Amino acid sequence: MVHIKRLELSHFKSFGGTTQVPLLTGFTVVSGPNGSGKSNILDALLFALGLASSKGMRAERLPDLVNHNQGNRGTAEASVTVTFEIDEVEGDLHEWSVTRKLRVTKQGTYTSNYYINGAACTLTELHEQLSQLRVYPEGYNVVLQGDVTGIISMNAKERREIIDELAGVANFDRKIVQAKDT
Ligand code: ATP
Ligand code: MG
Repeated sequence: MVHIKRLELSHFKSFGGTTQVPLLTGFTVVSGPNGSGKSNILDALLFALGLASSKGMRAERLPDLVNHNQGNRGTAEASVTVTFEIDEVEGDLHEWSVTRKLRVTKQGTYTSNYYINGAACTLTELHEQLSQLRVYPEGYNVVLQGDVTGIISMNAKERREIIDELAGVANFDRKIVQAKDT
């Protein structure tokens, strides 16, 4: 069993300081008034795991994800860490973490870096590791607002592609295309 145990958000969107969001096994509900940052927690998950574009995280561009109230310092930084708990062998738990840091200069240029257990990695390496946990950018590990309506209005071929994705077949199809291209 794999589950996300904790999210740590630092200066990400509406989260000014550093906030830890614990997720228990089973079902977790986040409740709060409108605009209090519930959906921003999901955006943080998409951000750290490299699963969505800035639009997917409801921002015009990546620098908009950094908390606006960081004062007048030279470089603004946002970071999110997602900690997974992996139970490979019965009772043998270990943690595995992914961090993404976004640094934005005063001029508006930015850099974005990913880390696995604190060691820098590329997005391709991260996706390779995440696919072993059956987390895919094209997958439905995170179901966003509008996704369900989208599925209902799809044609048969598009709906079939979702089943391929869920069954894990699509990943092999992508590898075949990749191998043919190289
Ligand atoms: P609802 O119940 O309406 O869905 P919600 O709890 O999901 O609300 P979010 O969409 O997570 O709310 O949060 C929206 C808030 O986040 C807005 O008040 C917006 O101003 C704030 N916000 C977004 N980006 C930033 C940022 N970069 N810096 C500071 N605040 C931000
Ligand atoms: Mg919301």
